[in-house]
Amino acid sequence: MTILEKVTALLGEGAVLEAAPDRVPRVAPGSPDAVALLLGTAHQEGWRVRIEGAGTWLQSDAPADIALTTRRLDRIPAIEPADLTATAEAGIGLDQLRQQLADRGAWLAIDPPGLAGRTLGSVISAATAGPLRHGFGPIKDHLLGVTFVTGDGRMVQSGGRVMKNVAGYDLTRLQAGGFGAFGVIVLVHLRLRALPRADVTYVPDSRRPHSSSCRPPWRGANGGCSPCGSPDRRRSSRPTKPVSARRAGAAASARSAPRRRMDSGCVSPKDSRFGP
Ligand SMILES: Cc1cc2nc3c(=O)[nH]c(=O)nc-3n(C[C@H](O)[C@H](O)[C@H](O)COP(=O)(O)OP(=O)(O)OC[C@H]3O[C@@H](n4cnc5c(N)ncnc54)[C@H](O)[C@@H]3O)c2cc1C
Repeated sequence: MTILEKVTALLGEGAVLEAAPDRVPRVAPGSPDAVALLLGTAHQEGWRVRIEGAGTWLQSDAPADIALTTRRLDRIPAIEPADLTATAEAGIGLDQLRQQLADRGAWLAIDPPGLAGRTLGSVISAATAGPLRHGFGPIKDHLLGVTFVTGDGRMVQSGGRVMKNVAGYDLTRLQAGGFGAFGVIVLVHLRLRALPRADVTYVPDSRRPHSSSCRPPWRGANGGCSPCGSPDRRRSSRPTKPVSARRAGAAASARSAPRRRMDSGCVSPKDSRFGP
C-alpha cells in the first residue's frame, strides 16, 4: 500500500489534493482532529511531513514524504465584537479573516507582508509583521490561545479565549515564530480591537526644503526640525517609513485609507494620534 492509498483510506479522497511541484503528495485534512489523525499515523509509519499554509512562500524543496496543507482549515467558529475576541482556524486567508472582522466592526491590528491568500497560521508561525507592529506590538501580542498538533499527533490547547487567562508556561507566545517546530497550528483565539473609523498614512517627504511653518517648539537644539527631521534627515540619511495613524471622527472607512503627504514638511502631534 502506498502512502497516498493509506492517507486516502484514513481521511477520504477529498483530503488528497494535487501533488506539490516536487511531486510530494499534498494532503489537506478537513478538521483539527484529522490533522491529529494524520500526524499520529505519520509518526507511527515514519513519514516525513512538510507543513504548508497556502504555499505562497514556502519553497517546496524541504525533504518530505507528504505535504500537510492547512488550506481546508478555513472556518471562523466565533467572532465576538463585544468581547473583542475571535476564534479562527489556522488555514483561513488573512485578508478573508480581516474582511469578516471588519463586517462585524472588529479589527486585528496586524499588517504582515505577503500575498492575499497567506494564511493566519503562517503569519503566526513565521511571526511576520508590518509597520503596525510599532503601534500595536508583534503577532504574539494578539494571541489569546492556540491549539496545535504535535509531531506524534497529540492535540495541545494553550492559553484561552479571553483576556484574563490561565497561569503556567506560556506555550501560546512560543508558537509565534516557531516555524512549526512545536507542531501544526490548527486553531487560534485572537485579541481584537474596534475597527478604526479612519486609517490615515502619512508619508514624510524628505526632499522638500525646510518649512517656514516649523516653529518652536518643533525646532531641535541644532536648528533642525525634530518631528520632520529636515534638514538633519539629509545628513543622517535615516530611511523614510510610512506611518499609520488614526483620526477620531473622520468619516473615511479603513479600507479606503487615504495617503496624506505632509506638505508643510512636518506633522504636529495635535494633528495625528500615533499608536493604539
Ligand atoms: C515582502 C515580504 C516579506 C516577507 N518577510 C518575511 C519574513 O521576514 N519572515 C518570514 O518568515 N516570512 C516572510 N515573508 C513570507 C510570509 O511568511 C508569507 O508571505 C506568508 O505568510 C506565507 O503564507 P502561506 O500561507 O502561503 O504560508 P506557506 O508559504 O505555505 O508557509 C510559510 C511558513 O509557515 C509555516 N506554516 C504555515 N502554516 C503553518 C501552521 N498552521 N502551523 C505551523 N507552521 C505553519 C510553513 O511551514 C512555512 O515555514 C515575507 C513575504 C513578503 C512578500
